Amino acid sequence: MTLTFLGTGTSVGVPQIGCTCDVCRSTDYRDRRRRCGAYVRVGALGILIDTPPEMRLSCCEYGITKVDAVLLTHAHMDHVAGFDDIRRFNTINGEIVPCDPNCECTRGKTHRVIGKVMPVYAMKETEDQMHNIFPYISDKGGVNGLYRPQIQFSNDETIVLADEAKEKVEIERIKVEHSFPCCGYKFTSRGKTLVYISDCHELPLQSLEKIAGVDVLILNCLRDRPHPTHLNTEKSLKYSKLINAKRTFITHMCHDFSHVQWIERLPQGVEPAYDGQVIEL
Ligand SMILES: [Zn+2]
Ligand SMILES: [Zn+2]
Ligand SMILES: [Zn+2]
Repeated sequence: MTLTFLGTGTSVGVPQIGCTCDVCRSTDYRDRRRRCGAYVRVGALGILIDTPPEMRLSCCEYGITKVDAVLLTHAHMDHVAGFDDIRRFNTINGEIVPCDPNCECTRGKTHRVIGKVMPVYAMKETEDQMHNIFPYISDKGGVNGLYRPQIQFSNDETIVLADEAKEKVEIERIKVEHSFPCCGYKFTSRGKTLVYISDCHELPLQSLEKIAGVDVLILNCLRDRPHPTHLNTEKSLKYSKLINAKRTFITHMCHDFSHVQWIERLPQGVEPAYDGQVIEL
């Protein structure tokens, strides 16, 4: 199993529009933080976690061309506003069919693409919010081409996905507190475990029990100062210690600290993530 960070920044991204601080002006590529999302690969399976606004750029830059399923943590715009770009994966996964040359609708084309519906896993509340934000999405394609994402929601709390070679991954929803319907995900494959929690200000006890001792923990850490809906450094490190993962990566960072500054101030076993970083396990 591998995970690629598509973005590691907070909701406004880093650099922030109009900010001239040292981090926003940094030339270290690890200080450029797009909005949070990730890509998990298990065998031939490709799974997107969230569809952030810069998802298209990250997919192009990191060579992500295969997506079999999408998991949504929640419907805040920094996590879903790239959702329309699912269309491209409907096409890639779709079928090329020959056109009837006598049919007027083909306008001289010989072939056309029938998009494949993308399975999207999310909480029911998130699904409802997505239909309000994107009223045109459905499991049906457009009549005149692939101009809207074709998606099929599922609210299952635990799912098992497998590729053609039967390489499997179990994905379990993890409850989090973010003052908004939101969740994290736990991935288990070949006895290895990875947890992804990009947004929360608190973790319920039952979630802590579920994720104790995982191999890799990805946890949000906004800044030092407290925030009503995000973990700050103190709380994030408190949870990281309680969960006692083999490796912890922090994400959803603002511009208060550079990558190098984070490395210097985090304890052993806790690392700042950066856009494009790949974790193998
Ligand atoms: Zn967020
Ligand atoms: Zn700044
Ligand atoms: Zn959020």
